[in-house]
Amino acid sequence: MNASYGATQVLFGIDFAVEQGKITAVLGANGAGKTTSLRAICQIVQTSGSILFDGQEIIGKSTANIVRMGVAHVPDGRGTFTGLTVEENLRLGAYTRKDKAEVERDIEKMYARFPRLKERRSQQAGTLSGGEQQMLAISRALMLRPRLLLLDEPSFGLAPLIVLEIFRIMRQINEEDQVSMLLVEQNASIALDLAHDAYLLETGHVQLSGTSEQIKADETVRRSYLGY
Ligand code: ATP
Repeated sequence: MNASYGATQVLFGIDFAVEQGKITAVLGANGAGKTTSLRAICQIVQTSGSILFDGQEIIGKSTANIVRMGVAHVPDGRGTFTGLTVEENLRLGAYTRKDKAEVERDIEKMYARFPRLKERRSQQAGTLSGGEQQMLAISRALMLRPRLLLLDEPSFGLAPLIVLEIFRIMRQINEEDQVSMLLVEQNASIALDLAHDAYLLETGHVQLSGTSEQIKADETVRRSYLGY
């Protein structure tokens, strides 16, 4: 798959797979094309080539259709509705669903997973801490009951303890609900601890791919991304 912003091509023949039920990390320096890879899957950037989801071609479909196919995107900057309450954000996340009783049950499930959100259910999202906003962004995306969750730098700007808490819950969600995840991260160390598989992007090309163990063992990754 290739992707461009206007005349500027930024992804060049990217070829990678996200296995069902697994967490796959995309690593790389600033500007490598990680965010663009997620945007390509959502069709919010110009793409060519092929992107298959469950054997179906995504390129050319509308973003709304891709969401209905079961792909949810937690963009960088999180994208919660800051003027709405926590609960209104969660309810909005389920906008594609008609099963009202199940939606209410899922809201309670999110509160059980993220008790801080329950405490703040009536607060405007804009008043939450960065970590709580990230928890809300993930929960809101899960309200779609996606089969694939795209996460763009969930650790960005957060204190290490909050990051650990969020990543622990992401693992739980992956294991209990079998939601596949494609995780973009600059923090290679925590991403490789969570993910089953990983890809390293450099200037719009896949430089390296393998299981997280294999990527962790690579000399260049250790020196450039893990710092040991
Ligand atoms: P970062 O961690 O900095 O977000 P990244 O690996 O996610 O890095 P991308 O954001 O995908 O990288 O950017 C890849 C390239 O595309 C960069 O050279 C960037 O300058 C360029 N780019 C990103 N967004 C746009 C845009 N809206 N218009 C034009 N060029 C863009």
